[in-house]
Amino acid sequence: MTEPLKVAILGAGAAGLCMAIKLSEAGISDFRIFDKGDRAGGTWRDNSYPGAACDVPSHLYSYSFARKPDWTRKFAEQPEILSYFEGIVRSYHLEPHLQFGAEAVSATFDEGEAVWRIGFRDGSEVAAECLVSGLGQLNRPMIPQIPGLDEFSGTAFHSARWDHDVDLAGRNVAVIGNGASAVQFVPHVVDAAQHVTIFQRSANWIIPKPDREFRPAEITAFRRVPGWELLVRWWTYWRLELNFNLMKRDSRLGALLSRMLTKELRKLVSPQLPVEALIPDYPPGCKRLLISNDYYQSLLRPNSAVELSHIDHVTADAVVTTDGTSHAVDTIIFGTGFESTHFLAPMVVTGREGRRLNDAWAEGAQAHLGITVAGFPNFFLLYGPNTNLGHNSIIFMIEAQTRYITKLIAEVSRGDVAWVDVRADVMDRFNARLQHDADDTVWAASCDSWYKNEHGRITNNWPRFTVSYWNRLRTPRPEDFVRRARLVASRHQN
Ligand code: NAP
Repeated sequence: MTEPLKVAILGAGAAGLCMAIKLSEAGISDFRIFDKGDRAGGTWRDNSYPGAACDVPSHLYSYSFARKPDWTRKFAEQPEILSYFEGIVRSYHLEPHLQFGAEAVSATFDEGEAVWRIGFRDGSEVAAECLVSGLGQLNRPMIPQIPGLDEFSGTAFHSARWDHDVDLAGRNVAVIGNGASAVQFVPHVVDAAQHVTIFQRSANWIIPKPDREFRPAEITAFRRVPGWELLVRWWTYWRLELNFNLMKRDSRLGALLSRMLTKELRKLVSPQLPVEALIPDYPPGCKRLLISNDYYQSLLRPNSAVELSHIDHVTADAVVTTDGTSHAVDTIIFGTGFESTHFLAPMVVTGREGRRLNDAWAEGAQAHLGITVAGFPNFFLLYGPNTNLGHNSIIFMIEAQTRYITKLIAEVSRGDVAWVDVRADVMDRFNARLQHDADDTVWAASCDSWYKNEHGRITNNWPRFTVSYWNRLRTPRPEDFVRRARLVASRHQN
Protein backbone atom coordinates (compact mmCIF):
# COMPACT_ATOMS: atom_id res chain seq x y z
CA MET A 1 0.00 0.00 0.00
CA THR A 2 1.35 3.44 -0.86
CA GLU A 3 2.14 5.74 2.02
CA PRO A 4 -0.41 8.50 2.53
CA LEU A 5 0.54 12.03 1.66
CA LYS A 6 1.28 14.27 4.58
CA VAL A 7 -1.03 16.97 3.19
CA ALA A 8 -3.58 17.08 0.37
CA ILE A 9 -4.52 20.60 -0.71
CA LEU A 10 -7.68 21.12 -2.76
CA GLY A 11 -7.52 24.05 -5.17
CA ALA A 12 -4.59 25.78 -6.85
CA GLY A 13 -5.87 29.30 -6.35
CA ALA A 14 -4.51 32.09 -4.16
CA ALA A 15 -5.28 30.07 -1.01
CA GLY A 16 -3.99 26.65 -2.06
CA LEU A 17 -0.75 28.05 -3.45
CA CYS A 18 -0.11 30.09 -0.30
CA MET A 19 -0.68 26.97 1.80
CA ALA A 20 1.83 25.05 -0.28
CA ILE A 21 4.47 27.73 0.12
CA LYS A 22 4.01 27.95 3.89
CA LEU A 23 4.25 24.16 4.22
CA SER A 24 7.46 24.14 2.17
CA GLU A 25 8.90 26.90 4.33
CA ALA A 26 8.11 24.79 7.42
CA GLY A 27 10.03 21.88 5.89
CA ILE A 28 6.92 19.88 4.98
CA SER A 29 7.35 18.92 1.36
CA ASP A 30 5.13 15.83 1.19
CA PHE A 31 2.04 17.58 -0.13
CA ARG A 32 0.07 17.62 -3.37
CA ILE A 33 -2.29 20.26 -4.72
CA PHE A 34 -5.35 18.90 -6.54
CA ASP A 35 -7.31 21.13 -8.89
CA LYS A 36 -10.22 20.37 -11.19
CA GLY A 37 -8.96 22.82 -13.82
CA ASP A 38 -6.01 22.65 -16.16
CA ARG A 39 -3.92 25.47 -14.74
CA ALA A 40 -3.38 27.32 -11.47
CA GLY A 41 -5.00 30.63 -10.58
CA GLY A 42 -8.38 29.69 -9.12
CA THR A 43 -10.87 32.50 -9.43
CA TRP A 44 -8.49 34.40 -11.72
CA ARG A 45 -8.38 31.43 -14.08
CA ASP A 46 -12.16 30.97 -14.02
CA ASN A 47 -13.21 34.60 -14.32
CA SER A 48 -11.78 35.65 -17.67
CA TYR A 49 -14.76 37.75 -18.73
CA PRO A 50 -14.02 41.08 -20.48
CA GLY A 51 -13.26 43.76 -17.91
CA ALA A 52 -12.46 41.30 -15.09
CA ALA A 53 -10.31 43.10 -12.56
CA CYS A 54 -9.68 43.19 -8.86
CA ASP A 55 -11.46 45.73 -6.69
CA VAL A 56 -8.66 45.68 -4.13
CA PRO A 57 -5.74 47.99 -4.99
CA SER A 58 -2.94 46.08 -6.73
CA HIS A 59 -0.23 46.72 -4.17
CA LEU A 60 -2.27 44.96 -1.51
CA TYR A 61 -3.31 42.12 -3.81
CA SER A 62 -0.18 40.01 -3.57
CA TYR A 63 1.36 37.83 -0.88
CA SER A 64 3.35 39.84 1.65
CA PHE A 65 6.31 37.55 0.97
CA ALA A 66 6.08 37.89 -2.84
CA ARG A 67 5.18 41.50 -3.45
CA LYS A 68 4.97 42.88 -6.96
CA PRO A 69 6.35 46.39 -7.40
CA ASP A 70 5.61 46.49 -11.13
CA TRP A 71 1.82 46.23 -11.20
CA THR A 72 0.83 48.12 -14.32
CA ARG A 73 -2.26 49.80 -12.86
CA LYS A 74 -3.86 50.78 -9.58
CA PHE A 75 -6.50 48.04 -9.87
CA ALA A 76 -4.95 45.13 -11.70
CA GLU A 77 -6.86 43.31 -14.42
CA GLN A 78 -7.41 39.57 -14.59
CA PRO A 79 -4.62 38.63 -17.06
CA GLU A 80 -1.98 40.37 -14.93
CA ILE A 81 -3.26 38.77 -11.70
CA LEU A 82 -3.41 35.32 -13.29
CA SER A 83 0.12 35.79 -14.55
CA TYR A 84 1.20 36.81 -11.00
CA PHE A 85 -0.11 33.53 -9.56
CA GLU A 86 1.40 31.50 -12.40
CA GLY A 87 4.68 33.24 -11.66
CA ILE A 88 4.31 32.20 -8.02
CA VAL A 89 3.98 28.55 -9.10
CA ARG A 90 7.24 28.85 -11.01
CA SER A 91 9.27 30.82 -8.50
CA TYR A 92 8.28 28.56 -5.59
CA HIS A 93 8.81 25.40 -7.69
CA LEU A 94 5.30 24.15 -7.09
CA GLU A 95 4.87 22.43 -10.49
CA PRO A 96 5.81 18.94 -9.25
CA HIS A 97 3.15 19.22 -6.54
CA LEU A 98 0.30 20.16 -8.86
CA GLN A 99 -2.22 17.65 -10.14
CA PHE A 100 -4.77 19.06 -12.58
CA GLY A 101 -8.02 17.54 -13.81
CA ALA A 102 -8.55 16.25 -10.27
CA GLU A 103 -11.97 17.19 -8.91
CA ALA A 104 -12.48 15.92 -5.37
CA VAL A 105 -16.00 14.58 -4.87
CA SER A 106 -15.64 13.02 -1.43
CA ALA A 107 -13.37 13.05 1.59
CA THR A 108 -13.78 10.54 4.38
CA PHE A 109 -11.80 10.40 7.59
CA ASP A 110 -10.56 6.88 8.28
CA GLU A 111 -10.31 6.86 12.07
CA GLY A 112 -8.43 3.56 12.24
CA GLU A 113 -5.61 4.77 10.03
CA ALA A 114 -6.00 8.46 10.94
CA VAL A 115 -6.01 9.50 7.29
CA TRP A 116 -8.36 11.29 4.95
CA ARG A 117 -9.42 9.26 1.92
CA ILE A 118 -10.15 11.65 -0.89
CA GLY A 119 -12.19 10.41 -3.83
CA PHE A 120 -11.98 12.07 -7.24
CA ARG A 121 -14.47 12.41 -10.09
CA ASP A 122 -12.51 9.83 -12.18
CA GLY A 123 -12.87 7.20 -9.44
CA SER A 124 -9.31 7.46 -8.15
CA GLU A 125 -8.53 7.84 -4.45
CA VAL A 126 -5.72 9.44 -2.48
CA ALA A 127 -4.96 9.15 1.23
CA ALA A 128 -3.53 12.05 3.21
CA GLU A 129 -2.93 12.69 6.90
CA CYS A 130 -4.14 16.27 6.62
CA LEU A 131 -6.64 17.80 4.24
CA VAL A 132 -6.71 21.50 3.41
CA SER A 133 -9.52 23.02 1.36
CA GLY A 134 -8.43 25.99 -0.70
CA LEU A 135 -11.73 25.97 -2.59
CA GLY A 136 -12.91 29.23 -1.12
CA GLN A 137 -16.40 30.68 -1.23
CA LEU A 138 -16.91 31.61 -4.87
CA ASN A 139 -15.96 28.68 -7.04
CA ARG A 140 -19.33 27.26 -8.18
CA PRO A 141 -21.26 29.49 -10.59
CA MET A 142 -24.95 29.86 -9.77
CA ILE A 143 -27.39 29.70 -12.68
CA PRO A 144 -30.92 30.40 -11.48
CA GLN A 145 -33.63 27.87 -12.24
CA ILE A 146 -35.71 30.03 -14.54
CA PRO A 147 -38.69 28.20 -16.07
CA GLY A 148 -38.14 27.50 -19.77
CA LEU A 149 -34.37 27.96 -19.70
CA ASP A 150 -33.91 24.48 -21.16
CA GLU A 151 -35.89 25.51 -24.23
CA PHE A 152 -33.73 28.57 -24.97
CA SER A 153 -32.27 28.04 -28.45
CA GLY A 154 -29.64 30.80 -28.33
CA THR A 155 -26.29 30.95 -26.58
CA ALA A 156 -26.14 31.08 -22.79
CA PHE A 157 -23.19 31.14 -20.43
CA HIS A 158 -22.16 32.31 -16.95
CA SER A 159 -19.67 35.13 -16.42
CA ALA A 160 -17.28 32.73 -14.64
CA ARG A 161 -17.38 30.40 -17.68
CA TRP A 162 -17.18 33.07 -20.36
CA ASP A 163 -17.49 31.64 -23.85
CA HIS A 164 -14.71 33.45 -25.70
CA ASP A 165 -15.69 31.75 -28.96
CA VAL A 166 -18.91 33.75 -29.06
CA ASP A 167 -18.65 36.93 -31.12
CA LEU A 168 -21.15 39.32 -29.59
CA ALA A 169 -21.24 41.59 -32.67
CA GLY A 170 -24.79 41.89 -33.98
CA ARG A 171 -26.27 40.00 -31.05
CA ASN A 172 -29.25 40.81 -28.87
CA VAL A 173 -27.99 40.07 -25.39
CA ALA A 174 -29.77 39.61 -22.07
CA VAL A 175 -27.56 40.12 -19.03
CA ILE A 176 -29.11 38.68 -15.88
CA GLY A 177 -27.72 40.24 -12.73
CA ASN A 178 -25.94 43.48 -11.96
CA GLY A 179 -23.43 42.54 -9.25
CA ALA A 180 -19.64 42.89 -9.04
CA SER A 181 -19.02 40.77 -12.14
CA ALA A 182 -21.79 42.31 -14.28
CA VAL A 183 -20.74 45.92 -13.64
CA GLN A 184 -17.34 44.97 -15.01
CA PHE A 185 -18.42 43.11 -18.16
CA VAL A 186 -21.59 45.04 -19.10
CA PRO A 187 -19.71 48.07 -20.54
CA HIS A 188 -17.71 45.70 -22.78
CA VAL A 189 -20.81 43.80 -23.86
CA VAL A 190 -22.57 47.08 -24.67
CA ASP A 191 -19.52 48.05 -26.75
CA ALA A 192 -19.63 44.81 -28.71
CA ALA A 193 -23.28 43.78 -29.08
CA GLN A 194 -26.12 45.18 -31.10
CA HIS A 195 -28.39 45.52 -28.08
CA VAL A 196 -28.10 44.64 -24.40
CA THR A 197 -30.91 44.37 -21.87
CA ILE A 198 -29.76 44.24 -18.26
CA PHE A 199 -32.27 42.49 -16.02
CA GLN A 200 -31.87 44.13 -12.63
CA ARG A 201 -33.58 42.51 -9.67
CA SER A 202 -32.22 44.95 -7.09
CA ALA A 203 -30.02 48.01 -7.28
CA ASN A 204 -26.43 48.20 -6.05
CA TRP A 205 -24.42 51.00 -4.54
CA ILE A 206 -21.58 51.87 -6.90
CA ILE A 207 -18.70 54.16 -6.04
CA PRO A 208 -16.13 55.57 -8.50
CA LYS A 209 -13.00 53.49 -9.09
CA PRO A 210 -9.81 55.50 -8.60
CA ASP A 211 -8.05 53.49 -11.28
CA ARG A 212 -5.35 54.39 -13.78
CA GLU A 213 -2.16 53.00 -15.22
CA PHE A 214 0.99 53.55 -13.22
CA ARG A 215 3.47 55.82 -14.98
CA PRO A 216 6.89 54.28 -15.76
CA ALA A 217 8.52 56.61 -13.21
CA GLU A 218 6.15 55.39 -10.50
CA ILE A 219 6.94 51.75 -11.26
CA THR A 220 10.65 52.55 -11.18
CA ALA A 221 10.16 54.18 -7.78
CA PHE A 222 8.23 51.14 -6.49
CA ARG A 223 11.11 48.96 -7.66
CA ARG A 224 14.06 51.03 -6.61
CA VAL A 225 13.22 53.40 -3.75
CA PRO A 226 13.79 51.34 -0.62
CA GLY A 227 10.60 50.88 1.37
CA TRP A 228 8.38 52.95 -0.95
CA GLU A 229 6.27 50.08 -2.29
CA LEU A 230 5.95 48.64 1.22
CA LEU A 231 4.85 52.00 2.55
CA VAL A 232 2.16 52.23 -0.16
CA ARG A 233 1.04 48.71 0.71
CA TRP A 234 0.76 49.56 4.40
CA TRP A 235 -1.01 52.82 3.71
CA THR A 236 -3.49 50.99 1.47
CA TYR A 237 -4.07 48.29 4.09
CA TRP A 238 -4.85 50.74 6.90
CA ARG A 239 -6.97 52.96 4.67
CA LEU A 240 -9.10 49.97 3.68
CA GLU A 241 -9.11 48.65 7.24
CA LEU A 242 -10.70 51.87 8.45
CA ASN A 243 -13.49 51.30 5.90
CA PHE A 244 -14.75 48.57 8.22
CA ASN A 245 -16.44 51.43 10.06
CA LEU A 246 -18.78 51.55 7.08
CA MET A 247 -19.73 47.92 7.70
CA LYS A 248 -21.10 48.67 11.14
CA ARG A 249 -24.86 48.81 11.57
CA ASP A 250 -26.39 52.29 11.20
CA SER A 251 -23.00 53.83 10.49
CA ARG A 252 -22.98 57.60 9.99
CA LEU A 253 -20.38 57.12 7.30
CA GLY A 254 -22.86 54.87 5.44
CA ALA A 255 -25.63 57.46 5.69
CA LEU A 256 -23.29 60.16 4.40
CA LEU A 257 -22.10 57.95 1.56
CA SER A 258 -25.62 57.07 0.46
CA ARG A 259 -26.55 60.78 0.33
CA MET A 260 -23.45 61.61 -1.71
CA LEU A 261 -23.88 58.70 -4.13
CA THR A 262 -27.56 59.45 -4.67
CA LYS A 263 -26.73 63.07 -5.52
CA GLU A 264 -23.99 62.05 -7.94
CA LEU A 265 -26.19 59.42 -9.57
CA ARG A 266 -28.97 61.92 -10.11
CA LYS A 267 -26.51 64.27 -11.84
CA LEU A 268 -25.14 61.48 -13.98
CA VAL A 269 -28.18 59.63 -15.26
CA SER A 270 -31.32 61.74 -14.95
CA PRO A 271 -33.48 62.33 -16.82
CA GLN A 272 -32.58 59.45 -19.18
CA LEU A 273 -32.76 56.70 -16.56
CA PRO A 274 -35.17 56.14 -13.65
CA VAL A 275 -32.84 57.23 -10.84
CA GLU A 276 -35.10 55.91 -8.08
CA ALA A 277 -34.79 52.40 -9.51
CA LEU A 278 -31.00 52.59 -9.47
CA ILE A 279 -30.84 53.72 -5.84
CA PRO A 280 -30.73 50.77 -3.45
CA ASP A 281 -33.30 50.60 -0.66
CA TYR A 282 -30.67 49.32 1.80
CA PRO A 283 -27.55 50.93 3.29
CA PRO A 284 -24.19 50.84 1.43
CA GLY A 285 -22.21 47.72 2.30
CA CYS A 286 -25.24 45.48 2.99
CA LYS A 287 -24.47 43.91 -0.38
CA ARG A 288 -20.94 44.26 -1.65
CA LEU A 289 -20.14 47.88 -2.45
CA LEU A 290 -19.24 47.99 -6.14
CA ILE A 291 -16.65 50.15 -7.84
CA SER A 292 -16.93 51.28 -11.43
CA ASN A 293 -16.43 54.31 -13.63
CA ASP A 294 -18.28 53.05 -16.67
CA TYR A 295 -21.28 50.94 -15.64
CA TYR A 296 -23.87 53.72 -15.38
CA GLN A 297 -22.43 55.34 -18.50
CA SER A 298 -22.97 52.10 -20.41
CA LEU A 299 -26.63 52.12 -19.35
CA LEU A 300 -26.98 55.51 -21.00
CA ARG A 301 -25.90 54.16 -24.39
CA PRO A 302 -28.62 53.91 -27.07
CA ASN A 303 -28.12 50.16 -27.49
CA SER A 304 -28.68 49.29 -23.82
CA ALA A 305 -31.70 49.11 -21.56
CA VAL A 306 -32.29 48.31 -17.90
CA GLU A 307 -35.28 46.08 -17.28
CA LEU A 308 -36.75 46.35 -13.81
CA SER A 309 -39.61 43.88 -14.12
CA HIS A 310 -38.64 40.51 -12.74
CA ILE A 311 -38.02 37.58 -15.05
CA ASP A 312 -40.97 35.21 -15.29
CA HIS A 313 -39.72 32.65 -17.79
CA VAL A 314 -37.58 32.10 -20.85
CA THR A 315 -38.75 30.88 -24.26
CA ALA A 316 -36.73 29.64 -27.24
CA ASP A 317 -35.87 33.19 -28.25
CA ALA A 318 -36.90 35.58 -25.48
CA VAL A 319 -36.83 36.48 -21.83
CA VAL A 320 -40.36 37.16 -20.62
CA THR A 321 -40.87 39.43 -17.62
CA THR A 322 -43.70 39.36 -15.08
CA ASP A 323 -45.35 42.38 -16.74
CA GLY A 324 -45.92 40.14 -19.79
CA THR A 325 -43.26 41.75 -22.01
CA SER A 326 -41.29 39.41 -24.22
CA HIS A 327 -37.69 40.59 -24.72
CA ALA A 328 -36.32 38.96 -27.87
CA VAL A 329 -32.71 37.83 -27.28
CA ASP A 330 -30.30 35.40 -28.88
CA THR A 331 -27.74 35.38 -26.05
CA ILE A 332 -28.09 35.20 -22.28
CA ILE A 333 -25.16 36.04 -20.01
CA PHE A 334 -25.61 35.11 -16.37
CA GLY A 335 -23.92 37.52 -14.00
CA THR A 336 -25.77 35.74 -11.22
CA GLY A 337 -22.89 34.99 -8.88
CA PHE A 338 -21.96 31.84 -7.04
CA GLU A 339 -23.24 29.13 -4.70
CA SER A 340 -21.52 31.01 -1.92
CA THR A 341 -23.14 29.71 1.26
CA HIS A 342 -22.85 25.98 0.54
CA PHE A 343 -19.07 26.08 0.69
CA LEU A 344 -17.72 22.58 -0.07
CA ALA A 345 -20.98 21.11 -1.44
CA PRO A 346 -21.51 19.00 -3.51
CA MET A 347 -18.35 17.31 -2.20
CA VAL A 348 -19.32 14.85 0.54
CA VAL A 349 -17.09 15.31 3.58
CA THR A 350 -17.38 12.69 6.32
CA GLY A 351 -15.58 13.11 9.63
CA ARG A 352 -15.34 11.11 12.85
CA GLU A 353 -18.12 8.63 13.60
CA GLY A 354 -19.51 9.03 10.10
CA ARG A 355 -20.52 12.64 10.69
CA ARG A 356 -21.33 14.51 7.47
CA LEU A 357 -20.22 18.11 7.06
CA ASN A 358 -23.50 18.90 5.31
CA ASP A 359 -25.40 17.76 8.41
CA ALA A 360 -23.08 19.67 10.74
CA TRP A 361 -23.79 22.73 8.60
CA ALA A 362 -27.54 22.21 8.19
CA GLU A 363 -28.27 25.61 9.76
CA GLY A 364 -25.36 27.26 8.00
CA ALA A 365 -21.64 26.72 7.55
CA GLN A 366 -19.51 27.47 10.58
CA ALA A 367 -16.01 26.72 11.78
CA HIS A 368 -13.65 27.79 14.50
CA LEU A 369 -11.95 30.92 13.16
CA GLY A 370 -13.30 29.88 9.76
CA ILE A 371 -10.67 27.13 9.69
CA THR A 372 -11.49 24.00 11.73
CA VAL A 373 -14.76 22.14 12.30
CA ALA A 374 -15.33 19.97 15.39
CA GLY A 375 -15.52 16.29 14.47
CA PHE A 376 -13.39 16.73 11.36
CA PRO A 377 -9.80 16.16 12.53
CA ASN A 378 -6.82 17.34 10.52
CA PHE A 379 -9.20 19.12 8.18
CA PHE A 380 -8.55 22.78 7.52
CA LEU A 381 -10.44 25.39 5.53
CA LEU A 382 -8.92 28.39 3.80
CA TYR A 383 -11.26 31.32 3.05
CA GLY A 384 -13.85 29.27 4.95
CA PRO A 385 -17.04 30.34 6.74
CA ASN A 386 -17.09 33.92 8.01
CA THR A 387 -13.72 34.93 6.61
CA ASN A 388 -14.84 36.91 3.57
CA LEU A 389 -14.42 40.68 3.69
CA GLY A 390 -16.37 43.64 2.45
CA HIS A 391 -13.57 46.11 3.02
CA ASN A 392 -10.05 44.68 2.70
CA SER A 393 -7.86 42.14 0.90
CA ILE A 394 -8.69 38.44 1.20
CA ILE A 395 -5.01 37.63 0.59
CA PHE A 396 -4.29 39.09 4.02
CA MET A 397 -6.79 36.69 5.61
CA ILE A 398 -5.45 33.72 3.64
CA GLU A 399 -1.88 34.37 4.73
CA ALA A 400 -2.91 34.52 8.38
CA GLN A 401 -4.85 31.26 7.95
CA THR A 402 -1.96 29.41 6.27
CA ARG A 403 0.42 30.38 9.08
CA TYR A 404 -2.05 29.07 11.67
CA ILE A 405 -2.75 25.83 9.78
CA THR A 406 0.95 25.19 9.18
CA LYS A 407 1.53 25.21 12.93
CA LEU A 408 -1.18 22.60 13.45
CA ILE A 409 0.04 20.45 10.58
CA ALA A 410 3.60 20.68 11.90
CA GLU A 411 2.33 19.23 15.17
CA VAL A 412 0.85 16.24 13.33
CA SER A 413 3.99 15.99 11.22
CA ARG A 414 6.25 15.54 14.20
CA GLY A 415 4.87 12.02 14.64
CA ASP A 416 3.47 11.58 18.14
CA VAL A 417 0.11 13.25 17.41
CA ALA A 418 -2.15 11.43 14.94
CA TRP A 419 -4.75 14.16 14.70
CA VAL A 420 -5.98 17.42 16.13
CA ASP A 421 -9.66 18.30 16.32
CA VAL A 422 -11.08 21.58 17.53
CA ARG A 423 -13.25 21.24 20.67
CA ALA A 424 -16.96 21.58 19.92
CA ASP A 425 -17.53 23.92 22.87
CA VAL A 426 -14.69 26.19 21.69
CA MET A 427 -16.13 26.32 18.18
CA ASP A 428 -19.66 26.98 19.46
CA ARG A 429 -18.54 29.78 21.78
CA PHE A 430 -16.55 31.38 19.01
CA ASN A 431 -19.50 31.27 16.62
CA ALA A 432 -21.98 32.58 19.18
CA ARG A 433 -19.78 35.65 19.66
CA LEU A 434 -19.19 35.98 15.95
CA GLN A 435 -22.91 35.90 15.13
CA HIS A 436 -23.50 38.45 17.87
CA ASP A 437 -20.97 40.74 16.19
CA ALA A 438 -22.41 39.98 12.74
CA ASP A 439 -25.84 41.13 13.95
CA ASP A 440 -24.25 44.49 14.58
CA THR A 441 -23.12 44.95 10.99
CA VAL A 442 -24.75 46.44 7.93
CA TRP A 443 -24.93 42.94 6.38
CA ALA A 444 -27.76 42.16 8.81
CA ALA A 445 -29.81 45.02 7.32
CA SER A 446 -32.73 44.36 5.00
CA CYS A 447 -31.06 43.15 1.84
CA ASP A 448 -30.50 39.72 0.34
CA SER A 449 -26.88 39.00 -0.40
CA TRP A 450 -24.51 36.11 -0.95
CA TYR A 451 -23.18 36.82 2.56
CA LYS A 452 -26.27 35.19 4.11
CA ASN A 453 -27.83 31.77 3.75
CA GLU A 454 -31.50 30.94 3.29
CA HIS A 455 -32.05 31.20 7.07
CA GLY A 456 -30.67 34.73 7.09
CA ARG A 457 -27.55 33.66 8.97
CA ILE A 458 -24.41 35.56 7.94
CA THR A 459 -22.17 32.65 7.00
CA ASN A 460 -19.61 34.35 4.82
CA ASN A 461 -18.23 37.52 6.33
CA TRP A 462 -15.78 38.31 9.10
CA PRO A 463 -17.59 40.87 11.27
CA ARG A 464 -14.59 42.62 12.83
CA PHE A 465 -11.43 44.42 11.78
CA THR A 466 -9.01 42.12 9.92
CA VAL A 467 -6.21 43.06 12.29
CA SER A 468 -8.09 41.33 15.11
CA TYR A 469 -8.33 38.18 12.96
CA TRP A 470 -4.62 38.34 12.20
CA ASN A 471 -3.83 38.75 15.89
CA ARG A 472 -6.05 35.84 16.92
CA LEU A 473 -4.39 33.60 14.34
CA ARG A 474 -0.82 34.25 15.34
CA THR A 475 -0.67 30.92 17.10
CA PRO A 476 -3.23 28.14 17.74
CA ARG A 477 -4.25 27.88 21.39
CA PRO A 478 -3.33 24.34 22.50
CA GLU A 479 -6.34 24.15 24.82
CA ASP A 480 -8.74 24.69 21.87
CA PHE A 481 -8.00 21.23 20.47
CA VAL A 482 -8.48 17.58 21.29
CA ARG A 483 -5.49 15.46 20.26
CA ARG A 484 -5.17 11.77 19.54
CA ALA A 485 -1.77 10.26 20.19
CA ARG A 486 -0.36 8.15 17.41
CA LEU A 487 -0.48 4.46 18.27
CA VAL A 488 2.87 2.70 18.72
CA ALA A 489 1.97 0.13 16.06
CA SER A 490 1.00 2.77 13.53
CA ARG A 491 2.85 3.05 10.25
CA HIS A 492 4.97 5.91 11.66
CA GLN A 493 6.56 3.59 14.17
CA ASN A 494 7.49 0.98 11.57
P1 NAP B 1 -23.31 38.68 -7.06
O1 NAP B 1 -22.67 39.86 -6.48
O2 NAP B 1 -23.86 37.63 -6.17
O3 NAP B 1 -24.43 39.23 -8.05
C1 NAP B 1 -25.37 38.36 -8.61
C2 NAP B 1 -26.37 39.20 -9.38
O4 NAP B 1 -27.29 38.31 -10.00
C3 NAP B 1 -27.19 40.13 -8.50
O5 NAP B 1 -27.44 41.31 -9.19
C4 NAP B 1 -28.45 39.31 -8.26
O6 NAP B 1 -29.58 40.07 -7.96
C5 NAP B 1 -28.61 38.67 -9.61
N1 NAP B 1 -29.42 37.46 -9.57
C6 NAP B 1 -29.15 36.32 -8.90
N2 NAP B 1 -30.14 35.45 -9.11
C7 NAP B 1 -31.05 36.05 -9.91
C8 NAP B 1 -32.28 35.66 -10.47
N3 NAP B 1 -32.83 34.46 -10.22
N4 NAP B 1 -32.95 36.55 -11.26
C9 NAP B 1 -32.43 37.75 -11.48
N5 NAP B 1 -31.27 38.20 -10.99
C10 NAP B 1 -30.58 37.34 -10.21
O7 NAP B 1 -22.31 37.89 -8.05
P2 NAP B 1 -21.02 38.43 -8.80
O8 NAP B 1 -21.31 39.70 -9.44
O9 NAP B 1 -20.49 37.35 -9.64
O10 NAP B 1 -20.03 38.72 -7.63
C11 NAP B 1 -19.82 37.81 -6.57
C12 NAP B 1 -18.64 38.21 -5.75
O11 NAP B 1 -17.46 37.86 -6.44
C13 NAP B 1 -18.49 39.67 -5.46
O12 NAP B 1 -19.29 40.17 -4.46
C14 NAP B 1 -17.03 39.77 -5.14
O13 NAP B 1 -16.74 39.37 -3.84
C15 NAP B 1 -16.46 38.77 -6.12
N6 NAP B 1 -16.07 39.51 -7.32
C16 NAP B 1 -15.08 40.41 -7.19
C17 NAP B 1 -14.72 41.15 -8.26
C18 NAP B 1 -13.63 42.12 -8.12
O14 NAP B 1 -12.74 42.00 -7.35
N7 NAP B 1 -13.69 43.16 -8.87
C19 NAP B 1 -15.36 41.01 -9.47
C20 NAP B 1 -16.36 40.08 -9.58
C21 NAP B 1 -16.72 39.34 -8.49
P3 NAP B 1 -29.95 40.47 -6.43
O15 NAP B 1 -28.95 41.51 -6.06
O16 NAP B 1 -31.32 40.93 -6.49
O17 NAP B 1 -29.78 39.20 -5.64
